[in-house]
Amino acid sequence: MQRLEAHIRNIPDFPQPGIQFKDITPLVKHPAMLRLAVHQLIHPFLGEHLTAVVGMEARGFIFGSLTAWELGIGFVPLRKPGKLPYDVQSISYDLEYGSAGLEVHLDALNKNDRVLLIDDLIATGGTAAASCELIEKLGAEIAGCAFVVELDFLKGREKLSKYNVHSLVHY
Ligand code: AMP
Repeated sequence: MQRLEAHIRNIPDFPQPGIQFKDITPLVKHPAMLRLAVHQLIHPFLGEHLTAVVGMEARGFIFGSLTAWELGIGFVPLRKPGKLPYDVQSISYDLEYGSAGLEVHLDALNKNDRVLLIDDLIATGGTAAASCELIEKLGAEIAGCAFVVELDFLKGREKLSKYNVHSLVHY
């Protein structure tokens, strides 16, 4: 996955000192790399029964929508609190500093759904673990979680030990 890595830009100290921000916008702009990333994200799940892709605001929308398109299934957005217009199921979770929340439309998923969760990057795993919990609150099953980038040293994967986790570029 060195080809993908060459199109991920490191921005030191963004959005705050000490964070090495992995900027995927050069990769997304590159047609061949974008296709490669989407194909690699879905590759381990091609034989699986899947009914929807779920992606988190905001960069999860980019890869999630394309993945859903490629798989021929629908896309469900998880959004920050207050953004979704209809009735929602909510979850809040702890960040390193403070807390965050995610919401999903109540009727977006149900017990007949088997979903693939997609985001651009897994760091501590807090966002992905909360997303899985939210999906399961609606009764849906998680077939797996896939990320373009994994920050291995933060051990986010340990928070997803129940699930099949797949990522493309490791730091
Ligand atoms: P976490 O909940 O710690 O796994 O953080 C994952 C979420 O935060 C993802 O939606 C990422 O887009 C974003 N994120 C966290 N750390 C970084 C980073 N170093 N570079 C880019 N995005 C990040």
